[in-house]
Amino acid sequence: MTYEYERVLTPTSGRRLHLNENTAGCSPAVIAALGRLTRQDAAFYPDYDNAIGAAAAFLGVTPDRVLLTNGLDEGILAVSIAALRGFAADSPAEAIVVLPAFDMYAACSDAAGGRVVLVSPEPDLSFPVDRVLAAITDRTRLVWLTTPNNPTGQIIPREITIAIAEAAPQALIFVDEAYADFSGLTLIGDPILDRLRNLVVGRTFAKAHGLAALRAGALVAPPSTLAPLRRIVLPYSINVCAAVALPAALGDTAYFDWYLGEVKKSKALLYGALERLGVDCWPSDANFVLARFPGDTKALVRRLAQRGVFVRDRSADAGCEGCLRMTAGVVADTRALVAAIEEVLCDAA
Ligand SMILES: *Cc1c(COP(=O)(O)O)cnc(C)c1O
Repeated sequence: MTYEYERVLTPTSGRRLHLNENTAGCSPAVIAALGRLTRQDAAFYPDYDNAIGAAAAFLGVTPDRVLLTNGLDEGILAVSIAALRGFAADSPAEAIVVLPAFDMYAACSDAAGGRVVLVSPEPDLSFPVDRVLAAITDRTRLVWLTTPNNPTGQIIPREITIAIAEAAPQALIFVDEAYADFSGLTLIGDPILDRLRNLVVGRTFAKAHGLAALRAGALVAPPSTLAPLRRIVLPYSINVCAAVALPAALGDTAYFDWYLGEVKKSKALLYGALERLGVDCWPSDANFVLARFPGDTKALVRRLAQRGVFVRDRSADAGCEGCLRMTAGVVADTRALVAAIEEVLCDAA
C-alpha cells in the first residue's frame, strides 16, 4: 500500500473554497514588504532572526522553541524522517493516522519508510480515543493528531492528547494545530509540553494569515524536542519572500482579527443555510465546514463549479460518505456559496 497526496484542481477564476485558504488574500502589509526587497536581498542567503522573533512573539514562546519550516508540510516531512527512519525493512516503525486525516501524514510516513496504521473514526466522526490507545504497540514511533481536525473541524480535548502521549513515550506525538488560529485553543504555552517531551506542535501561517503560496510554517516544542528536527530541516528552506512576509503578516493584527471575524460570520451563515436545507453538518472550530449532502456528491461538486464555486469532495474519506468540505472565508464568498447550493439543491428537488 502506498500513500500519495491528492493533487487538486487550481481554478484560475471563481471562488476557491476547496483548500481552506484565506479567501481575502494576505494582509496588504505583506505585499508592501515584498515590494521593499532589494536586488541584494534576492542575491544573499536570507537571515531568519526577524521572522523567528516575530513567530515566537506571536506564539508567546522564546525563539529557541520555534523551528520555522517551508510550510507546515515540511515540518510534517521532518517529523516523519526523525521518528521513522533507520528501522529494518522487515520490522518498520509504525505511524498511527486517525481517519479522516490530512493526506500528508500517511504520504510522509510512507516516504520515510514507516508503516502506516490507520484508525477509523467513530460513526459521528468524534475522536476514537480507545481505538487509538489500542493501536499503540512497541513499534509505534509517531502518532498524528489534528486539532481542529481537517476535514471535520472537531477538537481533540487536551486530556486525550495527554493520555496518548503518556501511553506512547517511545513515540513522537505530532499535534497539528494548522487551524488553531480559528479555534483559539493551543497546547503552546501549556506546561504539559515541558513535562511530556514527546509532544511537538505544528502551526502554519498559510491559513489564517494567508501565506499559503509563500510557504511558512513552524514546529513548536522545548529545545530538546526540537533538536533532532533541526538537524533535518534544511538551513535555507525558507526563502527570502516568506522570511519578510511573516513579520509583516504577524504585525498586521487588525487584518488578522478582521479575518477571524469574517470566518465566524461565514460559519454562522453556512450553519443557518444548511439547517434550512435539511443538510447535516458538523460544528467546526476551523475555517471550513463539513456537511453531508443527499445524492451524488461528484455531481454536486461539478454543478457548484459550473456556478464558479469550488468546494472539496471528501466523500471518499473514512466516515465521510456524501460529505463536502467548504471553506468559510469572507462573508461575500459564503453568500455566493449559499446561493449556489440553494440553486443546485432546489434544481435537483
Ligand atoms: C493546510 C494544512 C497543513 C499544511 O500547511 P502548509 O503550511 O501550507 O504546508 C498542515 N496540516 C493541516 C491539517 C492542514 O490542513
